[in-house]
Amino acid sequence: MSIQLFMPTFRVEECLEEIRECLEKGWTGLGFKTVQFEEKWKEYTGLENAHFLNSATVGLGLAFKILKMQKEWGDDAEIITTPLTFVSTNHAILYEDLKPVFADVDEFMCLDPKDVEAKITDKTKAILFVGIGGNTGRYLEIVELCKKYDLALILDAAHMAGTRLNGKIPGGEADVVVYSFQAVKNLPTADSGMICFKDKDNDDLCRKLTWLGINKDTYARSTDKGAYKWKYDVEHVGYKYHGNSIMAGIGLVQLKYLDQDNAYRKQLALWYDQGFEGNENIRSVKVAPGCDSSRHLYVIEVDKRDELLLALNESEIYPGVHYRDNTEYRMYSHAKGTCPNSHYISERILSLPMHLRMQKSDVDKVVEHVVKFTSM
Ligand SMILES: *Cc1c(COP(=O)(O)O)cnc(C)c1O
Repeated sequence: MSIQLFMPTFRVEECLEEIRECLEKGWTGLGFKTVQFEEKWKEYTGLENAHFLNSATVGLGLAFKILKMQKEWGDDAEIITTPLTFVSTNHAILYEDLKPVFADVDEFMCLDPKDVEAKITDKTKAILFVGIGGNTGRYLEIVELCKKYDLALILDAAHMAGTRLNGKIPGGEADVVVYSFQAVKNLPTADSGMICFKDKDNDDLCRKLTWLGINKDTYARSTDKGAYKWKYDVEHVGYKYHGNSIMAGIGLVQLKYLDQDNAYRKQLALWYDQGFEGNENIRSVKVAPGCDSSRHLYVIEVDKRDELLLALNESEIYPGVHYRDNTEYRMYSHAKGTCPNSHYISERILSLPMHLRMQKSDVDKVVEHVVKFTSM
């Protein structure tokens, strides 16, 4: 049997029950389950606002759009970000004509506060922090830097559903937090995401922008009988970015089991840790102190990564790489060489299979093959 990197697990009957409710009610779109999911998400995270989206990518774009409007940033505004992330993180900066400035990562593969501070200029307006694999890294030091230099903070929490820091869901410190519930994230739906603004006005604006800029309040005010439903106002050139009730229904079920599922991910990670303990050829990327990680990823660092990857494939084990140093991509090559540690790490990292269908025997098999290859 092959062992895949990711494979989502759904409580099928419970998901179908949620979807059935939508179909029977005749309500599959915005509203109904999307509202329920938003309420549950706020309750779970303790964050003030939550708006359900069709992806995290659009959420990151909206985060920059709205902060840029609110804080009146010019197009020369610089956003400090990491090169070790999925490209949608950095594309979001470019969508809004802002300038990504790359800072290096630390041993947790998250932004290194020292290098971030060194890269702050007069034009710096915000820091975008990515909790890679569910790890919080030195997030709290980044929060302090934002206070010291009066910068906005955007948290890309695409891997962080359920991550806690010192016993609490992080994010309340940030101006905006964006989660992904894409098909193979640790809270999978099929495609969707959540955006959580600190500021209620931003949340209000975001809700208009995710539905073409339509201001629903106009018709809500004009009649309570609904006869003037068509008579809304359009305040902005908005988008079609909101989520739907089918996805939210699946999300509601997934959220119920999130802590339980993450606990099993932690068990898998512990088995990996134990398997690699004391091995000089394999360095497991550690979770930061105080962080109770969602364990979206289990990452090791090895010398001959590409060869190891191919060797594992031959044994039907399919790991992945999260991520390639973004400055290697043509789009971001202007920044090549600015983050040596990220570059070094990205040539050496391998994400091992990590999903709920794995048993201890699967972890043992992966460990055995990795250990065997790296000792050759
Ligand atoms: C997956 C991912 C995203 C984008 O999420 P989507 O919901 O697929 O748009 C953003 N940032 C990171 C770090 C991701 O891994």
